[in-house]
Amino acid sequence: MKSSVIEVLQQYNNFTKLKEFSEYGNGHINDTYLLDYEGSGKVILQKINKTIFKEPKKLMENIALVTSFLRDKIEKNGGDPDRETLNLIKTKDGQSFYEDSKGDIWRAYNFIADTICYEQVTNAKEFYESGYAFGNFQNLLADFPVNKLSEVIKNFHNTEDRFATFKAQINEDPLGRAKTVKEEIDFFLNREEYTHIFNRALANNEISLKVTHNDTKLNNILFDKDTKKALCVIDLDTIMPGVAAFDFGDSIRFGANKGLEDEVDLSKVGLDIELFKAFTRGFLEACGKSLNKKEIELLHMGAIVMTYECGIRFLGDYIAGDKYFKIARENHNLDRARTQIKLISDMEEHIEEMKKIVEKYI
Ligand code: ADP
Ligand code: MG
Ligand code: MG
Repeated sequence: MKSSVIEVLQQYNNFTKLKEFSEYGNGHINDTYLLDYEGSGKVILQKINKTIFKEPKKLMENIALVTSFLRDKIEKNGGDPDRETLNLIKTKDGQSFYEDSKGDIWRAYNFIADTICYEQVTNAKEFYESGYAFGNFQNLLADFPVNKLSEVIKNFHNTEDRFATFKAQINEDPLGRAKTVKEEIDFFLNREEYTHIFNRALANNEISLKVTHNDTKLNNILFDKDTKKALCVIDLDTIMPGVAAFDFGDSIRFGANKGLEDEVDLSKVGLDIELFKAFTRGFLEACGKSLNKKEIELLHMGAIVMTYECGIRFLGDYIAGDKYFKIARENHNLDRARTQIKLISDMEEHIEEMKKIVEKYI
């Protein structure tokens, strides 16, 4: 066992009475360990990835605030706060995290037993449950004082800001790639209007900032192993102020795409409208009442805007020389940008249908 881990275990009551210790899960961001010790249940121990998260203490403050709020809310609603939310385990000093001698930040959560974690959506039922889980997360936090949260990644879904970066990347064009992808660049430049939708609605007070999760992947939900229902939303590193349509839209972007995010055969890429319907139903059954009319009306646009934003990030990174998104083959980021273009085009074709599905819940 690494000396840093031993140092961390000593900070918690009883953690050194180990029965079992192993690496755990399929997360790609943090280092996750499972430990089992004499006298109590299992624990998830995580080291936060500080390359991605520059201010891990602020991140931990966000998580401490949100999980304790959730705990109270779930208790009030008659739920089980030990299973329906993550719970931070305090150190001997009563802190919600520990900074080790190398400056890494660690935290411990109760392990939520008898659950399943799916890696990929395989059917509409699971996607409905996923929508319900993230909608419920929104709903439980609807009256959380959102101004108390730090923006752990600045301008994360500020599409106007992402667009400015995209234009700067085109101007710089360090490898001369821009002229080879003119059609793709024009696709996005011609749709600049999308970048203003949410900033404008916020500025006009038509919609409001909420607690958003910002990593709404299926493997960030634990499902009850017996009922197969979504039980607990996990992976709270990116909770930030945002609008409901960001969580909704990003879920649709990667969960309701018929093809893979980096599919080369674009005939396989498109919006699966049945999956869109299933997610929308789950999401709005859970949080419809906590959203105003405009917030619901804009949800389907969230799917387009999140796909657009991702598309300009992929294409911008391709032009900049693949600096941010890891590539496994030549033109990988260009392929990714092209799937987003195809998906946006398909959503634009189905926009009236998407709108009708969403507006049923107003
Ligand atoms: P990452 O940010 O690296 O994705 P996660 O917080 O999502 O890290 O954790 C990685 C995996 O560990 C999850 O996908 C899940 O399978 C498992 N996991 C995390 N926290 C818990 C928990 N409290 N109880 C049970 N399993 C958990
Ligand atoms: Mg995760
Ligand atoms: Mg994560």
